Amino acid sequence: MSRFLKQSFMELEAYVPGEQPQDMEYIKLNTNESPYEPSDEVIKAVSSDEVKKLRLYSDPECKNLRDAIANRYDVKRQNVFVSNGSDDILNFAFMAFSENGVIFPEISYGFYKVFANLYGLKYSQIPLNEDFTINSSDYTDAKSMVVIANPNAPTGIALSINEIEDIVKSNPQNLVLIDEAYVDFGGESAIPLTKKYDNLLVCQTFSKSRSLAGGRLGFAIASENIINDLEKIKYSTNPYSINRLTLLAGEAAIKSDDYYMANCKKIIESRNYTIRELKNMGFTVLDSSANFIFAKKDGISGEYIYQKLRENGILVRHFTNEKIKEYNRITIGTYEQMQTFISVISSIINGGN
Ligand SMILES: *Cc1c(COP(=O)(O)O)cnc(C)c1O
Repeated sequence: MSRFLKQSFMELEAYVPGEQPQDMEYIKLNTNESPYEPSDEVIKAVSSDEVKKLRLYSDPECKNLRDAIANRYDVKRQNVFVSNGSDDILNFAFMAFSENGVIFPEISYGFYKVFANLYGLKYSQIPLNEDFTINSSDYTDAKSMVVIANPNAPTGIALSINEIEDIVKSNPQNLVLIDEAYVDFGGESAIPLTKKYDNLLVCQTFSKSRSLAGGRLGFAIASENIINDLEKIKYSTNPYSINRLTLLAGEAAIKSDDYYMANCKKIIESRNYTIRELKNMGFTVLDSSANFIFAKKDGISGEYIYQKLRENGILVRHFTNEKIKEYNRITIGTYEQMQTFISVISSIINGGN
């Protein structure tokens, strides 16, 4: 720490991303990326001619991309905000809509707590039910901004759209942010509700279902006033936050939606296969609507399974938080990767490997 850092940041605990090892070919099931490449349309869109144009700034209004998203989700351009990863949208929302603090689930995306601390907010982390589900009535009639990942992470469990609507409807004085990073893998999107409720902000990402984690692209849909607020923050921090190539890639990705939705279907099938096999081996697996599963086996520590998988070239995500330390979060890769995963884990629990 330098002697220049503001006092208020001295205690800040930053978010710790999953490992991105460069040293060896792992089967990478630790950061919920897609195992599939971007569509041919995306690869074509990022041509060498476009690389040559990198001397020019990108369109700060991101018109073409926002129009494509608006068209796909049946809203207007004025209802769409795009950003450098959806983490940027979370950042802006915690910065801008948190006058009265914020509440979010105790077990959820780790970044929420980081942003709450970054902005010195009053916040409360609501415990999950015993079975790791979110009790939606904990978030109705709240006194502050509400943030919920739906499906939740790292549990993978989704709330129904009716439960989301109850939360939004009961909080007219608070912004409700629904983080739908994993919605394409089995959740129901709250985007249609943004037409009915002016306190709802839905954000999604191109990082998971649309194979663009390295492109850094997220989007939000909400009432025009909320979008204008987000634009104001963007123009007060980094107006060209999305680079030219990512704008083109994102637009092409939206236009090749069928390809990505077919990939989501494949991932759901591989997820069902993996859950079935793990349950046959005596694992407890939570009910996932995401591209990952959360699993433990009684009698074997989560840490041991994580380490053993690693020694065998398979990376998964292990969290040390007391309440979930016996679990591992396993991203669903290709069917072949999951077959390898199952055979390795089977020999680990049988004392081999
Ligand atoms: C991955 C993830 C994000 C962030 O995605 P970006 O790569 O920043 O777009 C946001 N919320 C949740 C719950 C996530 O898992």
